Amino acid sequence: MEKANRTTKHKIATIGSHSALQILKGAKDEGFGTIAVCEKNRMQPYKSFRVADKIIEVSSFREFMDVEDELMAENAIVIPHATFIDALSTEKIEKLKTPYFGNKRILKWEVDRAMQRDWLKKAGLTLPGIFKNPEDIDVPSIVKFYGAKGGKGFFLAKSGDEFARKIAEHKGKAYIVQEYIIGVPVYIHYFYSPLTEEVEIMSFDRRFESNVDSIGRIAAKDQLDMGLDTSYNIIGNAPLVVRESLLPKAFEMGEAVIAASKKLEPKGIFGPFSLETVLTPELQFYVFEISARIVAGTNPYITGSPYTALRYNEPMSTGRRISREIKTAIAQGRLGEVLG
Ligand code: AMP
Repeated sequence: MEKANRTTKHKIATIGSHSALQILKGAKDEGFGTIAVCEKNRMQPYKSFRVADKIIEVSSFREFMDVEDELMAENAIVIPHATFIDALSTEKIEKLKTPYFGNKRILKWEVDRAMQRDWLKKAGLTLPGIFKNPEDIDVPSIVKFYGAKGGKGFFLAKSGDEFARKIAEHKGKAYIVQEYIIGVPVYIHYFYSPLTEEVEIMSFDRRFESNVDSIGRIAAKDQLDMGLDTSYNIIGNAPLVVRESLLPKAFEMGEAVIAASKKLEPKGIFGPFSLETVLTPELQFYVFEISARIVAGTNPYITGSPYTALRYNEPMSTGRRISREIKTAIAQGRLGEVLG
């Protein structure tokens, strides 16, 4: 039997990883029942933190399609995040039968880094330069692989020769070579409501990436002696509040990305997304990536951020904001508008 405080017959489901804790907690706060699809050895957090009413066990996230009938029988709406997209691939996601929050068709514009660049350019944002031909590399550059794997394996190269030496370990992988921008990395978290057509800034974060964020703890001489190569494997996220004078530009960039997305795919992007930027000493935002779904950088804000505290008189995580959007859509008879 449904609990009395349940908002609807619908339940909110996601894969147990990445930002599932706040997605499920936010869903419960909005009165939904919740389901976590978990790999056997990764269930403990979803049990211990009491966010999942039901846990469906799979031996690998790649088996998600096998539990779809069970999810549909529960009236589940699935919420994508990076692990979800990585485990299923965009092709499989397009074939999902279970109702899905967000626009599936926008995902390919994130996964393919060349298409992503096209989108950000159409939005008129300032981007790092790229080298189409790696032999031409003549400034410090970062070599990045396709997919949402959190910076694993990325490397720096200052010349074509250095690139050739380092790429040998990564045969067969698709990559992009971007100019490396020196400045402070700032990750901006947005939410766009297709119901109100309004963009919100939810929060900002900074990341801790290994080993690049620990190299500064070693003297330059020791760095050289140790023959270190930098890598960008993300370990966690920390809260950040930016200079207030940067906010108008941050809003403008979010709005430009949404407007450009509507020209790429019907409905464009909606729900949570993030722009990953480096801010130079001249306070120029260089946008080096877009994530077209919730990012783990919102995880420090399960009880809300300084920015959501301004707009909402209650704790509002990005996960909860997703469920609020679904709840509002249901109440207005517009659920189809938030499903992709
Ligand atoms: P990404 O997968 O694009 O988020 O990149 C992983 C990490 O590499 C980022 O979080 C940054 O620390 C770093 N990074 C990526 N692109 C650039 C760039 N163009 N300039 C400086 N740092 C970058």
